[in-house]
Amino acid sequence: MLTLYNTLAHKKQKFNPISGKQVNMYSCGPTVYSVAHIGNFRAYLAQDILKRALLHEGYIIKHVMNITDVGHLVGDANLGEDKIKLAAEKEHKTARDVANFYTKIFLKDMKLFCIIEPERMPKATDHIPEMLALIQSLDDKQYLYTAETGIYFDTSRLKDYGKLSKMTFAKLSRYLKAGVRVERASGLKNITDFAVWRFRKRESESDMIWDSQWGQGFPGWHIECSAMSLKYLGNTFDIHCGGIDHIPIHHTNEIAQSEAVTGQQFVNYWFHNNFLTVDGMKMAKSLRNIYSLGDLMEKGFKPADVRYMLISGHYRKKLNFTIEALENVSNTVRGIYLFMQRLKEIKGKGDGTREFAKKVSAAQKGFFRAINNDLNVPAALSYMHLLVSEANKRSYVGSLGAKDAKLVAKVMLDFDSILGLGLEEHYLNAQKKIPPEAMRLIDEREAARRSKEFKHADSIRAELKEKFGITIEDTKDGVKWH
Ligand SMILES: [Zn+2]
Repeated sequence: MLTLYNTLAHKKQKFNPISGKQVNMYSCGPTVYSVAHIGNFRAYLAQDILKRALLHEGYIIKHVMNITDVGHLVGDANLGEDKIKLAAEKEHKTARDVANFYTKIFLKDMKLFCIIEPERMPKATDHIPEMLALIQSLDDKQYLYTAETGIYFDTSRLKDYGKLSKMTFAKLSRYLKAGVRVERASGLKNITDFAVWRFRKRESESDMIWDSQWGQGFPGWHIECSAMSLKYLGNTFDIHCGGIDHIPIHHTNEIAQSEAVTGQQFVNYWFHNNFLTVDGMKMAKSLRNIYSLGDLMEKGFKPADVRYMLISGHYRKKLNFTIEALENVSNTVRGIYLFMQRLKEIKGKGDGTREFAKKVSAAQKGFFRAINNDLNVPAALSYMHLLVSEANKRSYVGSLGAKDAKLVAKVMLDFDSILGLGLEEHYLNAQKKIPPEAMRLIDEREAARRSKEFKHADSIRAELKEKFGITIEDTKDGVKWH
């Protein structure tokens, strides 16, 4: 049974989907005006862990993630320039070319990260008629009014506006004022009102402009998520995901306009991940601390290293990224791969005790108890490392038999159905990854080290380096190599 923190309820709750084993979920997807950075991917990875946990519990998932390829504002404010258009102007391409280019990179990075692909990834520009229909019904119900820059939603018409963030009106006003980087539209009735349709600003604007009965222009950002989620997942669906920065405005406004139209609860569970900082600071162009997966791969890291790093903190806590931490993680991941290969190599009976089988089962239970408790990946990982180090210890002294090794491998692959580190490949292709002779030497060196024959251990280390190009490292979790 999965327990999740639900932002709307402001507490952890048992997860109960609307209909049986079916889970309908929606994620606010990328704005495709540049390469998504690892902070963006922290959100998609947290959602991937959620999906994998649900799949492990036997649920069937319908996951929709939108691609924002139209007018997303620079700031949190209601006004501002279209980010995609700005990027297009800089690169002398049409906004559409820019959006297509970055969408491709995003999909490639998703694959490299082993993120399970959503069932649907609708583009905003393919859903303008749906957005216009939604705006029409809001207009029919008299939720809208015209201001200088567009058609606005009157938030004072809703009694429970802002229930997601539970900010008081005064606090929300302060938040909005603080977030304003550009001047506000004149003629707004309330500071919390937001545009559902924006008027074309200049005659020269021709890219990403549509006709509507409210005049030429383009949709507000929030309306696209309401239009696409209602279309593909129904008036009320199970889970809506996104970063915590979306709580006070974007998601609050999605709720407002969706519930105003349908008269029903929009979403049952709101799932929000916290920020990623780099070197203790918020990522910013001016600080030159924005990394994409591509940047880190150029530095020699593997997608699985970055994946492990980004899922290793609890999704509701801030996570700090540093290159040094990623280097450590990279060693840890290699250690796990080596461990999987070692399991495949183990022969013989060992002295397989009941006590060991009990430990394996306890690690498995602990791991999934942690995952089902609001996706506590750090706690789950500690159960996995306990199992790895226990099995390693036994294998070094020859007490781990082939049967035990198989059992451990099965449990590790079960863990990996959540972690997504690609352990199966390293297990199944063990022989191809590391020659048996090298494996034998690694074991022999470990035995020498344990019996404090350091000279012998060192000479084997040199031999491994020379013959196989394998570098050995001793860590508290056992031997690691690369
Ligand atoms: Zn959204």
